[in-house]
Amino acid sequence: MTGVDVADVPVVDTDVLVVGSGGAGLMCVLHVKAAAPELDVTIVSKGAVGRSGCTRMVQGGFNAVLDPADSVDLHLRDTLDGGRFLNDQELAHTLVTDAPKVIHELETRVGCFFDRSEDGRIHQKAFAGQQFDRTVHRGDLTGIEIMGRLRDQMFRVLPNELEDVRALDLVTDVHGELVGLTALDARTGRALLVRARIVVVATGGAATMYRIAAPAKEKTGDGVAMCWRAGLPLRDMEMLQFHPTGLLAAESRMTGAVLEEGLRGAGAYLYNARGERYMERYDAARMERSTRDVVSRAGYSEIMAGRGTPTGGVLIDISHLGAGEVERRFPGMVARTRQIGQDLATGPVEVSPTAHFHMGGVLIDPDCHTEMRGLLVAGEDAGGTHGANRLGGNGVAESTVFGSRAGDTAAAEASSRGFGEPDPEQVAASFARAYAPLERDAGELPFPLTRELKDAMWVGCGVVRDRAGLEECLASLDELTERSAQVSVPGPAQVNYAWQEALDLENQLTVARTVVAAAQLREESRGAHYRADFPEQDDAAWSRYVVLRRAADGSVSSDTRPVEHTRLAP
Ligand SMILES: Cc1cc2nc3c(=O)[nH]c(=O)nc-3n(C[C@H](O)[C@H](O)[C@H](O)COP(=O)(O)OP(=O)(O)OC[C@H]3O[C@@H](n4cnc5c(N)ncnc54)[C@H](O)[C@@H]3O)c2cc1C
Repeated sequence: MTGVDVADVPVVDTDVLVVGSGGAGLMCVLHVKAAAPELDVTIVSKGAVGRSGCTRMVQGGFNAVLDPADSVDLHLRDTLDGGRFLNDQELAHTLVTDAPKVIHELETRVGCFFDRSEDGRIHQKAFAGQQFDRTVHRGDLTGIEIMGRLRDQMFRVLPNELEDVRALDLVTDVHGELVGLTALDARTGRALLVRARIVVVATGGAATMYRIAAPAKEKTGDGVAMCWRAGLPLRDMEMLQFHPTGLLAAESRMTGAVLEEGLRGAGAYLYNARGERYMERYDAARMERSTRDVVSRAGYSEIMAGRGTPTGGVLIDISHLGAGEVERRFPGMVARTRQIGQDLATGPVEVSPTAHFHMGGVLIDPDCHTEMRGLLVAGEDAGGTHGANRLGGNGVAESTVFGSRAGDTAAAEASSRGFGEPDPEQVAASFARAYAPLERDAGELPFPLTRELKDAMWVGCGVVRDRAGLEECLASLDELTERSAQVSVPGPAQVNYAWQEALDLENQLTVARTVVAAAQLREESRGAHYRADFPEQDDAAWSRYVVLRRAADGSVSSDTRPVEHTRLAP
């Protein structure tokens, strides 16, 4: 396909368009249909509906206050402590208040089975950084349970599913009112325009622009990049969480895959290559149960100080619980390690910090509104809930809580908005940008550029940052951005992985630039953002969050805003 004639592009009209089919996307669909069954809902999903994204990868579980001895105030305190008080406290409060309701809904309406204790109550396990054992789970495959049941629910409510279709750009009318978005069917290579009264963006963020990374491959920051191009403000983009225990398996796709937090909760030890339990040096009180940022930095420091394994890792060991017990409690992780020739049940396994979760994202309010009328954002694409560091178990809670709320908001507001006429110039520009790599006669393939991007981010804007490294990283991103604008992929348009990679690369570069820009601004260390040249947390100067925005002419502005302690003071 060369050139797209906008007049020939098929148009799909729908009341509510949900972009992404992870926990946030599917909970949103269910809530729209429950509140307003007459509304027509369409899902646009880059991967298989309900089987793509990270919610299905959730191993450890879901934080919710269920025990009378626990309290939402305590959950809020843990969430804000973990987030180093950078959180939007109203979003965090919404999360902890709604989480128990969502667990109830998942069990009674969606049909999930969570593990139960002998007394019949839902079993809740320990997770790092929490003062109460409040993590609901189904073995160590909680995400499969939730997403499998949510997928089943789709056969009941029957949304229009556009699978293997990637959203490209938000589109407004000539007056700037949101009308819908442009999209691309990856199987046929055909362009598509979707018009909607309400658009919900839930593409799951991205921490995939790093050499070692945990999230699903199809997540490349598309939703955040789309909102950025549309001029929406982003917050906390420097706050990218590294999980301390990602598998190391050479060139295998298993490299980066997470060995979950529950292991450390259950008593796993971390050793360096000398056999020292090195957490003693970094957090002697909490040891392995310290928060992710501390444990990741500890592992990274050990590796950089030459106390790592020959292949650049450290070791996690839980075999002292006994092989049978480890197999019973962590079947998914045992299987995963055996696939790469190691065995969690019987001995230590080599791990490294792995890029895991993006706390930053689009500014929203508790009902998922953004600055743009008709546009809602939910799940990992939104910023603010977790502040500088997400607690294990608060991620799937966020996606399902805010996905539900986005659905309620969409149902309530859809009838107040009509269908608009897309600005033809925007539509043409979006498709021209997307089809350009396919139409160029010569140029680099995108794959080596993606690798260079991941290396540049790993080295310059990773677990430990400093001014010189960030500047070098930005220079690399500048160069890669220029080269990526000239990539060329051979045809045809159908099922063309190189073309999809080129589009992924552009979005990853876009998001990576905002991560570096925000990391340069924050001259202190807080949570996941550690500056070796500013190693202390500086509350006097930096009890503020960074907001970035792109103007229509492409220029970028930034400002910092004071965190409002509406619920709790540090
Ligand atoms: C390995 C791993 C383990 C985790 N374990 C836990 C845990 O134990 N507890 C916890 O609380 N959190 C955990 N998390 C975090 C948790 O998975 C996320 O916080 C949450 O699930 C994100 O949900 P989401 O709905 O926002 O996105 P996702 O579930 O990631 O879904 C994103 C969806 O967007 C689609 N998409 C992407 N781009 C486009 C596009 N351009 N157009 C259309 N569709 C698009 C994808 O196909 C996918 O359907 C884990 C994450 C990882 C990576």
